[in-house]
Amino acid sequence: MLDQKLLSILACPVCKGELHYDREAKELICLPDAMAFPVRDDVPVMLSNEARELTLEESEKYR
Ligand SMILES: [Zn+2]
Repeated sequence: MLDQKLLSILACPVCKGELHYDREAKELICLPDAMAFPVRDDVPVMLSNEARELTLEESEKYR
Protein backbone atom coordinates (compact mmCIF):
# COMPACT_ATOMS: atom_id res chain seq x y z
CA MET A 1 0.00 0.00 0.00
CA LEU A 2 1.40 3.29 -1.08
CA ASP A 3 0.99 5.65 1.82
CA GLN A 4 -0.10 9.23 1.78
CA LYS A 5 3.18 10.48 3.15
CA LEU A 6 5.20 8.87 0.39
CA LEU A 7 2.73 10.10 -2.16
CA SER A 8 3.10 13.67 -0.94
CA ILE A 9 6.85 13.71 -1.55
CA LEU A 10 6.63 12.20 -5.01
CA ALA A 11 6.74 14.50 -7.96
CA CYS A 12 6.64 14.00 -11.67
CA PRO A 13 10.20 13.52 -12.98
CA VAL A 14 9.34 15.49 -16.09
CA CYS A 15 7.57 18.62 -14.86
CA LYS A 16 8.14 18.21 -11.07
CA GLY A 17 4.43 18.64 -10.65
CA GLU A 18 1.97 16.94 -8.38
CA LEU A 19 0.88 13.39 -9.08
CA HIS A 20 -2.48 11.78 -8.72
CA TYR A 21 -2.56 8.19 -7.52
CA ASP A 22 -4.99 5.86 -9.17
CA ARG A 23 -5.43 3.05 -6.65
CA GLU A 24 -7.27 0.74 -9.00
CA ALA A 25 -4.83 1.04 -11.87
CA LYS A 26 -1.85 1.33 -9.49
CA GLU A 27 -0.48 4.19 -11.47
CA LEU A 28 0.70 7.67 -10.66
CA ILE A 29 -0.81 10.16 -13.02
CA CYS A 30 0.66 13.45 -14.19
CA LEU A 31 -2.03 15.46 -15.88
CA PRO A 32 0.09 18.22 -17.47
CA ASP A 33 2.25 15.60 -19.20
CA ALA A 34 -0.63 13.12 -19.70
CA MET A 35 1.59 10.35 -18.39
CA ALA A 36 1.01 7.41 -16.06
CA PHE A 37 3.86 5.99 -14.00
CA PRO A 38 3.55 2.38 -12.85
CA VAL A 39 3.67 1.28 -9.22
CA ARG A 40 5.25 -2.15 -8.97
CA ASP A 41 5.14 -4.04 -5.67
CA ASP A 42 4.29 -0.74 -3.99
CA VAL A 43 7.34 0.92 -5.46
CA PRO A 44 6.62 3.85 -7.73
CA VAL A 45 8.64 3.72 -10.91
CA MET A 46 9.38 7.36 -11.60
CA LEU A 47 11.04 6.99 -14.96
CA SER A 48 9.68 8.69 -18.01
CA ASN A 49 10.71 5.78 -20.22
CA GLU A 50 8.63 3.42 -18.06
CA ALA A 51 5.58 5.62 -18.13
CA ARG A 52 2.77 5.25 -20.56
CA GLU A 53 0.89 8.00 -22.27
CA LEU A 54 -2.63 8.70 -21.12
CA THR A 55 -5.39 8.66 -23.65
CA LEU A 56 -7.51 11.77 -23.94
CA GLU A 57 -10.38 9.96 -22.25
CA GLU A 58 -8.22 9.00 -19.32
CA SER A 59 -6.95 12.52 -18.78
CA GLU A 60 -10.53 13.76 -18.74
CA LYS A 61 -11.37 11.22 -16.05
CA TYR A 62 -8.74 12.59 -13.66
CA ARG A 63 -9.64 16.24 -14.03
ZN1 LIG B 1 4.57 15.97 -15.19
